[in-house]
Amino acid sequence: MKKSTICVQAGWTPKKGEPRVLPIYQSTTFKYETSEQMAKLFDLEESGYFYTRLQNPTNDAVAAKIAALEGGVAAMLTASGQAATFFAALNICECGDHIVSSSTIYGGSFNLFSVTFRKMGIEVTFVDQDSSDEEISAAFRPNTKLMFGETISNPGVQVLDIEKFAKIAHAHGVPLMVDNTFATPINCRPFEWGADIVTHSTSKYMDGHATSVGGVIVDSGNFDWDKYGDKFHGLTTPDDSYHGLTYTKAFGKGAYITKATVQLMRDLGSIQSPQNAFLLNIGLETLHLRVQRHCENAQRVAEYLENNPDIAWVNYPGLKSNKYYEIAQKYLPDGSCGVLSFGLKGGRDFSLKFIDSLKLAAIVTHVADARTSVLHPASHTHRQLTDQQLIDAGVAPDLIRFSTGIEDADDIIADIAQAIEAAKQ
Ligand SMILES: *Cc1c(COP(=O)(O)O)cnc(C)c1O
Repeated sequence: MKKSTICVQAGWTPKKGEPRVLPIYQSTTFKYETSEQMAKLFDLEESGYFYTRLQNPTNDAVAAKIAALEGGVAAMLTASGQAATFFAALNICECGDHIVSSSTIYGGSFNLFSVTFRKMGIEVTFVDQDSSDEEISAAFRPNTKLMFGETISNPGVQVLDIEKFAKIAHAHGVPLMVDNTFATPINCRPFEWGADIVTHSTSKYMDGHATSVGGVIVDSGNFDWDKYGDKFHGLTTPDDSYHGLTYTKAFGKGAYITKATVQLMRDLGSIQSPQNAFLLNIGLETLHLRVQRHCENAQRVAEYLENNPDIAWVNYPGLKSNKYYEIAQKYLPDGSCGVLSFGLKGGRDFSLKFIDSLKLAAIVTHVADARTSVLHPASHTHRQLTDQQLIDAGVAPDLIRFSTGIEDADDIIADIAQAIEAAKQ
């Protein structure tokens, strides 16, 4: 099936007399007829639902749709995008391990890596994703277990050379994990370029209407955990908490997602609520249409800004002048995303006055939903970071993050024009 058809149809295939629309299985628990049936579930000898903290049919249908969209073998929904990043890494990293990450990543991921992981004994080295293979390779250590980057970084909209990162990761015997939130599988499937694990904040384009916080982890099934079995012993040696079951032996290509589900979800519990999964699924049904419109509108806005004498700079991978134009043509030929960033000539105070004067575009932390929104990361999402950390994260102090919605592009542009004039008063 093509991606558009997957968006509309995949995941839930009702049989005779069943609801056409994916139902919300609003139940914590599931019934069995004998205690032996239940015991087999707890031993992972049989698959089935028993408690929604681990698995729920609504969630599984939506996870299956996203796995199909990404071209992966399995997926797991999480309560948030942050939980997805956390679980995806923790599934293969533990105290004493090390991660190599691009420095131009979402502020929440940056904090997770540099503060919370450090407390847990997992160290992260940040690299400039545009550096040479040699410079990036120098960050690897014998205890490195994972490499990480974002297809399109939030908020800097830098485009990752996924193939380059995959090559470096694999040369060091570790998987590449890519946060594909901004590109969505409509515009890029990182697995086709060598990534092994994909994560999303489904709160963004996938939900698309800013109704539900959520995340997802998708596994390509391609990484050979057994080949590096000593590194990934959590997957390749017996798990005492399941009577000595070994995930790679018992579940093959499903090992990674199964372990995340039955071990991490069991112990840490950050499942997405079935109600949110239901809303996410409705969002996914139009993802292909919305993403296309977001990209068309953002391109129009970017071109308008580029030709506006009051704008100091504009950063959008769809502009020929952009540093990432060539690389975006390779990885994102159908468009990148609806988010762009720019700076105004009047500096920081002028920028804040401009933002306050916008009428259609709303000041919200969120990005990537149907309504146009705007944010000043240095004052808002990234205010925890020092100026040097801001620059390292690809966030200039005057950067305005503009998330182009799916309204009429003429109205969005008119709003920007009037706000610039108002800021001059
Ligand atoms: C928003 C976001 C996250 C975190 O997701 P939440 O759903 O807010 O927890 C992670 N990565 C990227 C790229 C994001 O934009």
